[in-house]
Amino acid sequence: MEARNIVILGATGSIGRSTLKVIDSHPGFFNVKALAAYSNLELLKEQYYRYRPEYLGLVDSQKGQLLAASLKDEPVRVLVGDEALLTLVSLDKVDMVLNAIVGAAGLKVSLAAVKKGRDLALANKESLVSGGPLFAPIVEKTGARILPVDSEHSAVWQALTAGHKNEIRNIILTASGGPFRNLPADKFADITPEQALAHPTWQMGSKITIDSATLVNKGLEVIEAVVLFQVPADKIKVVIHPQSVIHSMVEYIDSSVIAQLSIPDMCLPITYALFWPHRVTSAFGQIDWDNLGPLTFEKPDNKRFPALELAYQAAQTGGTAPAIFNAANEVAVEAFLNRTIKFTDISDMIYNTLKKMNIVTNPGLEDILEADSQAREVSLSILEKKGC
Ligand code: NAD
Ligand code: MG
Repeated sequence: MEARNIVILGATGSIGRSTLKVIDSHPGFFNVKALAAYSNLELLKEQYYRYRPEYLGLVDSQKGQLLAASLKDEPVRVLVGDEALLTLVSLDKVDMVLNAIVGAAGLKVSLAAVKKGRDLALANKESLVSGGPLFAPIVEKTGARILPVDSEHSAVWQALTAGHKNEIRNIILTASGGPFRNLPADKFADITPEQALAHPTWQMGSKITIDSATLVNKGLEVIEAVVLFQVPADKIKVVIHPQSVIHSMVEYIDSSVIAQLSIPDMCLPITYALFWPHRVTSAFGQIDWDNLGPLTFEKPDNKRFPALELAYQAAQTGGTAPAIFNAANEVAVEAFLNRTIKFTDISDMIYNTLKKMNIVTNPGLEDILEADSQAREVSLSILEKKGC
């Protein structure tokens, strides 16, 4: 088999680095054609010397110029600025794009990749959440494939091979419950960023770690599942499973439930996405059944974690509501990490932003981008009014 050319966006992040580990573990299968990041010049440069891609992309212009200058004698083209990533996904001879950017900033590149008919290995759930209605018609036209990297969606994808779409009763997404699963409600307002960043089972970038602590992440994943599997939100259930061993399940109409299990390591769903439709030997560890212990399940608590319910409502409303939910959350998470707002303000900000905005049904890209930027303005004005 000829090596497949892959473009990795968000190469310096948690998923980007894990993807490179997966590629390292199977030499000869992938040729790293391009690597891109936002501003981490040092790590991107290190990755250049190791993988020797033909292209590098850095969104931050200043850092990008520095990178270009420092690699001027190397056989690599350094692209700089917002448009750099769009150019990279549109290069000739790209077989796969892995989008591991964080946030709705990943939307345009996800769309560009599927427009070009590329296989899109997608970690950047925010692009599916915001731009949900835009993907299906493009995918139908170009035959591009969206290969989920998110562990829950990878699990569902794998469990779906056991039946047919019209036989699905429910999709059951598991959630670890995050670090505050057992914290009493009256302690939530005092949660610090440090406490929220200490996730019990997964090592991840800071934004998704906060999203896991609020259960916004599970809400985003419900919407992601609606888009990926074209199943209505009321058929997508969430169950808390603190051990993060069952990554999700599909319940069929005959009441059989097919689950996918593994140790919690993102290298495993990344491997599945990169090598699909084949399974390859994994070097990342396996379940130790002798010492696994009990697997437990709980109902999510909507009182302490109100964002999950808000995400269901956004999914049911559709149109631009999920884009607004996502944008308000991005602003709120940043404000929480900067200690401008309290943990409990995150879901309040999402709620209030959604309440203040009109929803566009059947939106096009412009409507979604407009909803995203308006929602950010509305959230910021809520922040200012709070006197934060
Ligand atoms: P991270 O913060 O560790 O890395 C983010 C990467 O995106 C970095 O390389 C950064 O340079 C780049 N980036 C940030 N903003 C950008 C912008 N505006 N334009 C271009 N590049 C930008 O994040 P992560 O944990 O690797 O998560 C990446 C995505 O994968 C998120 O959407 C997250 O929800 C999803 N995801 C992550 C995990 C995980 O275990 N980390 C699991 C499932 C899904
Ligand atoms: Mg996930």
